[in-house]
Amino acid sequence: MMNGTLKSDLKPSTFAMPDGRLLHLYGDYSGTPNWPATDEMHERGFSHRRWHPVRREWVVYSAHRQTRTYKPATDACPLCPEAPGGEIPVRDFSIAVFDNRFSSFQKDCPKPAPITDVDVPIDSAAGNCEVVVYSSDHKASMGTLSQDRRELLVRVWGDRVRALLQMPAVQAVMPFENRGEEAGVTLHHPHGQIYAFSYMPPILETMAQGYREGYDPTKLTSSTVHEVAQTGSMAAFVPPFARFPYETWISPKSFRSSPADLTPGEVSDCARLLAIVAKKYDIFFGRPCPYMMIVYAAPRGMEGFFPFNIQFYPLLRTPHKLKYLAGCELGAGSFLVDVLPETAARSLRRIFVENIS
Ligand SMILES: [Zn+2]
Repeated sequence: MMNGTLKSDLKPSTFAMPDGRLLHLYGDYSGTPNWPATDEMHERGFSHRRWHPVRREWVVYSAHRQTRTYKPATDACPLCPEAPGGEIPVRDFSIAVFDNRFSSFQKDCPKPAPITDVDVPIDSAAGNCEVVVYSSDHKASMGTLSQDRRELLVRVWGDRVRALLQMPAVQAVMPFENRGEEAGVTLHHPHGQIYAFSYMPPILETMAQGYREGYDPTKLTSSTVHEVAQTGSMAAFVPPFARFPYETWISPKSFRSSPADLTPGEVSDCARLLAIVAKKYDIFFGRPCPYMMIVYAAPRGMEGFFPFNIQFYPLLRTPHKLKYLAGCELGAGSFLVDVLPETAARSLRRIFVENIS
């Protein structure tokens, strides 16, 4: 037990950073955040979005992210507790959530000026980007976090989704994790992110259409052919239409629209499956498996039909072969997959993972 404030409920302790960003500490923490006085103020910049008229989607431009002035010392991880120049100046913490310093979307994003010469719809990139740090332990990972910590993480996702959807501009909230250098990760401290969009991103829009027309992914939780693992109220499975080899979804067996709506039993089962899936990948590929993990929750106003589930996209086909998005995927949006979903499910199902408690 840490010697900080013990919080039995989920309400975080929230602090304002010197540049106005917010830090939320969930669970236990020790010490009081104390940022050193500095005249090296972070220069804020704003993003904007432009409409791509033939792809029919918004593209977000964040020119300020290219001129990052902040560079952590090579031996200092900015997500470790009390790191010099770091983001979380407390002695220890359970889960920390803070506004991304180089955010692609901003809470108070102004309306951009029109582009001269050409007629391209342009709008502000309102919203928010948060970083979710899973542990004060630099070497932890989804598979090695304690069950208690993973349960807290699932509840934190629910709390952030609910809190960010309360921002009037926000239409959809998506927590996710990129793991591994192959997924573009430069900080190895275990962490994920949460994006809050002020518009419907195209994939969420397409998914919403499928769900609106009645597709029910919870039915896949009873497929023994596609099963990867089961934990009572939740199941992990390779969907029969997987676009990535070894793509795996975690879903409640009953419809839930958000991680905030899970029962305590579902939170526990979900947390257990997160570890089981992550460990199975590492064992199967024989190395820490790079992946992208997306937490889907109902966008604003879609709580009645858009289901919560978690989707893992491992970036490996074999231990040494990366899965790339190549010409056919990027140019045509048609995925070519070398492994049948039923075969992938059988391979992952057979991997033994010791009891997760
Ligand atoms: Zn670290």
